Amino acid sequence: MGKATILLIEDSAAQARDTQRALNDLGYDVVLAENGLKGLKVLKSQPPDLVILDVLLPDINGHDVCRWMRLDERCRGIPVIMLTAKGSVEDKVAGLEAGADDYLPKPYHTMELNARIYAALRTKSLQDELRQKNKALEDLLVRVELLAITDTLTNVYNRRRFQAILKEEFARSKRYAVPLSCVILDIDRFKEINDRLGHQVGDRVLQETAESVSKQVREVDLVARYGGDEFVAILPQTSREQAKVAAERLLKAIEKQRYPDLPQEAVVTVSIGVAGLPDEGVETEVQLVRVADYALLRAKHQGRNRVEAVAWRDPDFQKSLLSDTEFGEHGRRNA
Ligand code: GH3
Ligand code: MG
Repeated sequence: MGKATILLIEDSAAQARDTQRALNDLGYDVVLAENGLKGLKVLKSQPPDLVILDVLLPDINGHDVCRWMRLDERCRGIPVIMLTAKGSVEDKVAGLEAGADDYLPKPYHTMELNARIYAALRTKSLQDELRQKNKALEDLLVRVELLAITDTLTNVYNRRRFQAILKEEFARSKRYAVPLSCVILDIDRFKEINDRLGHQVGDRVLQETAESVSKQVREVDLVARYGGDEFVAILPQTSREQAKVAAERLLKAIEKQRYPDLPQEAVVTVSIGVAGLPDEGVETEVQLVRVADYALLRAKHQGRNRVEAVAWRDPDFQKSLLSDTEFGEHGRRNA
C-alpha cells in the first residue's frame, strides 16, 4: 500500500491539528476541511483514500455528508470513519445507517484510530481487487461471447448467430405483420481464385467481400458468413421488392470493388438470392432461407452476377420442392 491520503472533515481547529499531526506521524497525507461543504468540494475534486468525518459540523452534519458520498459514483467506494462525540448507541446507528464503515467515539486513542484506518483501507483494497477481477472476468465473458457468434476469418457474424437472429426476426415479422427479407450471396467461380492465386488470396477476397456487404447494408441489418464463399443478410422491415433493389446495389458495389491481391483488371462478382415476408406459404424461417437458397441457385443458373427474388408460390420453386428429396416432405432443410 502506498502513502494513503485521508480527508479529515473536522470543525474544531485544535482537534483537527492534533488529529492531523497524529495521522502525519502514522505516515498518512492529510487534507483538512473545516466544514461539510468544503469536505464535499474536496471529495469531488481530489477524492481521498479514506474520510474521517466529524458528526457535528457547523453547516451540514456528518451523516448528510456520508449520505451524499454514497449517492455519488466517484465517492461511493471511499471508506468513512465517523467521529462520534457522545459514543451513544443512537449516534453509532445513525452513522452506520448513513453509510459510514466504522465509527470512533471521541476522545479516541491514536493507536485505535490507526487500527481502524488500517482495517478500513485493507477492506477497501480487497474490494477494489475483487472489483477488478470481476471486471476482467466480465470482459473475458464479452470476448468469449463475441467469439462464439463471430466468423473468425471475416469478422462478420457466423451461421449460428444468423440462425438465432433470423428466428427472432421471423417471429417478430409474423407477429406484427412487418416485412422481413433474407438475402443470400455467393461469390461467382470462387474456386478459380483459390486455384489460380492460392487459398490465402482467396481468404482475403472473402474478407473484403464481407466488408463490402457490411458497408452496403443498414445498421439494423445483420450480415453473416453462411459458410464457404456464401454470405447472408437479414433485412428487417424490408419487403422482397425493396430487398431486391438493395441486392442490386450490393451487386454493383461488389463488381466495382478492386482487390490489392488480384490482377488490376480482375473483377469479382456475386450471385444473389432474395426471399422475403410477406410471402404466403412461408411458415417458418427455415422455409424463408430455403426460398432464398433457391433464388440464389436460379441466379447462378441464369448466368451469375445477378439478383433473383423468388416467392414461395413460384411454380419452379414448387417443382424443386417436389423433386428435391434433400428437403424432405415439408420442403425444409436444416438451415
Ligand atoms: P459458383 O459460381 O458456382 O459459386 O462457383 P464457385 O467456384 O464459387 O463454387 P462454390 O461456391 O461451390 O465454391 C466455393 C469454394 O470456396 C469451395 C471452397 O474450396 C472454397 N472455400 C470455402 N471456404 C473457404 C475459405 O475459408 N477460404 C478459401 N480461400 N476458400 C474457401
Ligand atoms: Mg461460389
